[in-house]
Amino acid sequence: MGAIERAARGVAHAFPGGHPLRVGDLSTPHGGAHSRHRTHRTGRDADLLFFLRDAGGLAAQGDGWLRFGRLGFATLRGRVFRFDEARNWHLVRTLVMDDQARVKWLFCSNELKARLLRYAARYESSPEAVVRATWVLHQPTRGDSHDDHFHLRVGCGTDERSLGCTEQAPHWPWLSDTARKQDARASDAASDLHLVRWLFAEERVDERRDIAGRRFDAAAQPASIVGR
Ligand SMILES: [Zn+2]
Repeated sequence: MGAIERAARGVAHAFPGGHPLRVGDLSTPHGGAHSRHRTHRTGRDADLLFFLRDAGGLAAQGDGWLRFGRLGFATLRGRVFRFDEARNWHLVRTLVMDDQARVKWLFCSNELKARLLRYAARYESSPEAVVRATWVLHQPTRGDSHDDHFHLRVGCGTDERSLGCTEQAPHWPWLSDTARKQDARASDAASDLHLVRWLFAEERVDERRDIAGRRFDAAAQPASIVGR
């Protein structure tokens, strides 16, 4: 997927001195069996491993799939790693703002979503990026909580659509999409000024976390979507 390469380059450019983005496994263009996620068969899913820092705050390269808890730490064989909010947020915002990428979901745990949105509320200059991320970042209701990677799911590309690829929900309003009128729930995502005020407010961090963790997750989630 070109979008992944563009986003990885964007992160490396914005935050030099880091390690390359690790892509866990990229589904083949024609789909195929996959051990970790059944959804990878569609050919539009990829696992992106988180950017990490070591205990001292320097960019670090992990080894395998590190699970990050609520406080943003993971341990592996006695070593402590931190969730790299800056690079991970930059990855997210680049993907959701890349209109060619047609990102449907970036599955990750509620705790990590809250961390990313808190970081974004402080440092992100584009409210649009924050609104999109608030909807697109999502912990699946069933299956893996995704505390060890972002699970990227994109929609059909232009070529695929001409070959009969049927666009699945959600139809986010910021993606030009003929089917979007039918998806009223997704349309709410773009008009939620209330949300923007929340995210850009200086105070009420706890309530913001609440929003990130619950209300918008529940609202943004068509029942048919399950990430694994
Ligand atoms: Zn995954």
